[in-house]
Formats: sequence, structure tokens, C-alpha cells
Amino acid sequence: MNLCDIKTIKQIMAMFSLNFRKEFGQNFLTNHTVVEDIADNCCDNAHSTILEIGPGIGSLTRELAERYENVVALEIDKGLIPVLKYTLGEYRNVTVINEDVMKADLDAILAPYFEKGPVSVCANLPYYITTPILMKLLESGLPFENITIMIQSEVADRLCAPPGGKDCGAITAVLNYYGSPEKLFKVSAGNFIPAPKVDSSVVRIRLYPEKPVKPLDEATFFKTIRAAFEQRRKTLPNALSAVFSDISKEDITEIIVSCGHEPTIRGEKLSVEDFAKLSDELYKRTMK
Ligand code: SAM
Repeated sequence: MNLCDIKTIKQIMAMFSLNFRKEFGQNFLTNHTVVEDIADNCCDNAHSTILEIGPGIGSLTRELAERYENVVALEIDKGLIPVLKYTLGEYRNVTVINEDVMKADLDAILAPYFEKGPVSVCANLPYYITTPILMKLLESGLPFENITIMIQSEVADRLCAPPGGKDCGAITAVLNYYGSPEKLFKVSAGNFIPAPKVDSSVVRIRLYPEKPVKPLDEATFFKTIRAAFEQRRKTLPNALSAVFSDISKEDITEIIVSCGHEPTIRGEKLSVEDFAKLSDELYKRTMK
């Protein structure tokens, strides 16, 4: 059964009386080579468990099941569960769970798999909720090896932007704290049914087992990043003093200069290391 064949997809949807649900971001892949490329590149270790978010009718799930030890697939749409039983029935290493990933207790679901070996994430993510899902995965503290996601190309450019570039945003800095992102390839809108309005790209994030940058206080670190990008037209002293109201603007400027920057610098020019150093100094000042 070729689950990327448009005729087959339509037949399966009709067989189970289903329509593509826009509210769940249902754009299914119709190019088998793309599905194989994603499955091939999401992980180096065949003994891994793969957490798939949004299996749809199971096209990527099957390829993952062929390559890796276990696949745990979370699907929000109840209507697709019987479809997945039909398309994945022959795979003993696949567990399908009917849950919203945003509400799911990933710790509890994945604990038995982390005991067995490495766990990675692989997903063709629904566009409407890309960033919240990515943040949930990163903030979960779960030791995922890789997170490979297909997302809107524009978001991929942002995630993989080098510091200082025009595409760089708060999410870029936050992501680079957790791991190293890499854009693998682009997939044009014509490779999906229904076709979305924009092209997609596949991004693989290799998470650091041990983070190379260790801020004194994570909350201050994230607050510094958020402040710097929320007010990105402002210079850094202005942007930070809007948020760190208990430190005077003069002191903030002095801290920025003591970290080796011009007072006129903008936040987007800073690397993760720069943000950590700066947030450490701000944290120490708030503790005084
Ligand atoms: N993996 C399939 C493919 O590549 O053809 C489908 C990908 S489609 C872009 C996104 C899938 O995520 C849909 O099956 C949708 O129902 C599911 N989904 C949407 N929101 C979800 C959520 N919050 N939790 C779990 N699954 C979700």
C-alpha cells in the first residue's frame, strides 16, 4: 500500500468517511521519496525509539517503523485512529495514542522507552502549532537525541538563522541553547494534499546531551532573550530597561559595556554565549 499515492489517500479517507481537517493542520505528504528522506535522516541509531507527532494516515510512521526499534505516534484526530489500525496493523513496534501532544504527559508515555535506549522525535508538524510543540519538547527536559520536524520554510529559516541575521528571533537564540539546528531540505507545497499555501522545510535539531552554555539562572536568561527581541527596534539598553525595571538604565548600559558590547548594540547581534554572560550579570545585580 503506497500511502503517499493521492488516489490511495482519497480512497482511505472515503473508506473511513473522513475529510481533511484544516483545524488540525492536516496536509498529508504525497511524495514517497520525501517521506523516506525524512525517515532516513531523523536519527543515526536503529535501536532508537521515535516519537512521531501527528501520524495522519501513517505514511511516515511506516517508514519509521521499518528503520527504528519502536515508534510511538500521538494523533489528536480520533477519526484517524481506525485508519492507523488499518494502515499500520502489521507493525508490532508501533504504538498509536489518541492524544493532543500539548496535553500529553510525555514523561509518563516515554519513560519505558528511555529505559531501553535513545529517543528522537520526528514529525511533519501541523503549521498552526509548530512553535508551541517545539517549545514543549525542548522545555520538557526529556533527553531527546534529535528532533526532526517539517515546518513552514519561513519558520525553518528563523530557527536556523545565524546570530545577527535578519531572520534571527528569540526562538533562534532559545533553540541554539538546547541544541544545534540544521536545515536538511526544502519540500514544495505541491508535495501535500491538500496543498498548503507555503513551502516547507525539514529541520533537524541535535540536542546537546550536556548544554555548552550554562546561565546562572535560566529564568533570567530567557527573560533577557525575550526582552531583546520583543523590542528589537530599540537598542539593547532601552529594550532591557523596559523589562528589568528594578535596575536603572545607567546600570544596564554599564553591564552591557562590561560584557564587551557597544551601548548601541541591538539584541539580535548577540549569540547564546553573549546572552548567558549578560543575563548572569543582570541576575547578579538583581540579587544584590
Ligand atoms: N504525518 C502525516 C504526513 O506527513 O502526511 C500527517 C502530517 S499533518 C501536517 C499533521 C498531523 O498532526 C495531522 O494528522 C493532524 O491531525 C495531527 N495533529 C494536529 N494537531 C495535533 C496535536 N495537537 N497533537 C497531535 N497530533 C496533532
